[in-house]
Amino acid sequence: MDFSWNDEQAALRREITRFAQKELNDNLIERDRCEEFSWDGWKKCAQMGIQGLPVPEEYGGSGADILTTVAALEALGYGCRDNGLIFSINAHMWTTEIPLMAFGTEEQKRKYLPKLVSGEWIGLHAMTEPLAGSDAYSLRTRAERKGDRYILNGSKTFITNAQHANLFIIFANVDPSHNPNGVTAFLVEKGTPGLSVGNKLHKMGLRTSPMAEVVVQDCEVPVENILGKEGGGQASFTTSMEWERTCILASHLGMMQRQLENAVKYARERNQFGQPIGKFSAISNKIADMEVRLETARLVLYKAAWLKSQGRHPLKEVSVAKLYVSEAAVQSCLDAIQILGGYGYMTEYEVERELRDAISSKIYSGTSEIQRVIIAGLHGL
Ligand SMILES: Cc1cc2nc3c(=O)[nH]c(=O)nc-3n(C[C@H](O)[C@H](O)[C@H](O)COP(=O)(O)OP(=O)(O)OC[C@H]3O[C@@H](n4cnc5c(N)ncnc54)[C@H](O)[C@@H]3O)c2cc1C
Repeated sequence: MDFSWNDEQAALRREITRFAQKELNDNLIERDRCEEFSWDGWKKCAQMGIQGLPVPEEYGGSGADILTTVAALEALGYGCRDNGLIFSINAHMWTTEIPLMAFGTEEQKRKYLPKLVSGEWIGLHAMTEPLAGSDAYSLRTRAERKGDRYILNGSKTFITNAQHANLFIIFANVDPSHNPNGVTAFLVEKGTPGLSVGNKLHKMGLRTSPMAEVVVQDCEVPVENILGKEGGGQASFTTSMEWERTCILASHLGMMQRQLENAVKYARERNQFGQPIGKFSAISNKIADMEVRLETARLVLYKAAWLKSQGRHPLKEVSVAKLYVSEAAVQSCLDAIQILGGYGYMTEYEVERELRDAISSKIYSGTSEIQRVIIAGLHGL
């Protein structure tokens, strides 16, 4: 086993870290407070090639392999403290670009991927509904075929990027009696009559990432806008989830590394009772725990990515990575806050925001409970 990055990957990581530290963190406390998405950051990331990492060169991307992509996103998470921006980019990559690459026709790929890669367009996927969350395939949104069109009706909630998206992948059921084999993914462009963005949703964390409801009301979608085939929504959704659960938390590794370094620095510099607080084992043990958690998180995430790079579908390893890294990141934030004491609880020190951001990772892309259900299910339980 070789755990080192090659020269190109190491150089890419340095370049992305420098870029992110310089370009992506301006005015973040204020932007978090007023829930402002950074268009400027989005476009700069696209120019840097982030949104195009996994997309083949013929569609404008760089065709990076999954391990290189993970390496790049880890560096992004280290340099960029705007977790909302990173989350929006992840949603765009794993739930719009990836299913297009996997199931799109040549025409669909040529039409949409270059715009998604260049950052000109933003993508989303709309699966969750008010009555269908973890039980995603129980969705109520319907698609009824009429000639060469489908008529979509229903409403979606918790949809990331909704206010700014140009391309919506909307899941609807064409035949509930054959669930989940009626679930179908449709490509719907902004401006299509009957498609609207509903209420803006206000979040505890990831506040710089836009989120809203999405409504389709007698929304006519031409047959050629099916992604994959009729009834193929499950394949598209599981492909997205496999990629997303593997890669979306790579940036958390970078965040945890940064938190560890800051906590060590603070523990060395902050004196109480006549000595640095890092000399108290209660504090140094937390530092050691942060390090062990980070190393373990790296191993499980890299392993899932490596297995995928071998063309495997590592259901267990992907769920282990999603579950472990999300919970490790939350604990890392809590430890960092505790080490900083009262300062850690203050907005100015920026760890409280990262805790609010990190908690969502135990919910999106399949909750921690669902990951445990999958892992235990592989043991027949
Ligand atoms: C920040 C964020 C971004 C999101 N972005 C999107 C997006 O872009 N597109 C989209 O479609 N959705 C998105 N979602 C929705 C997300 O996928 C759902 O919130 C998630 O799947 C859980 O669904 P739910 O919230 O309805 O909770 P429920 O499914 O109602 O779950 C409630 C609780 O019950 C538990 N539970 C449910 N079923 C089981 C079970 N079988 N065994 C054990 N426990 C169970 C859950 O783990 C949870 O603790 C986003 C959510 C968040 C927080």
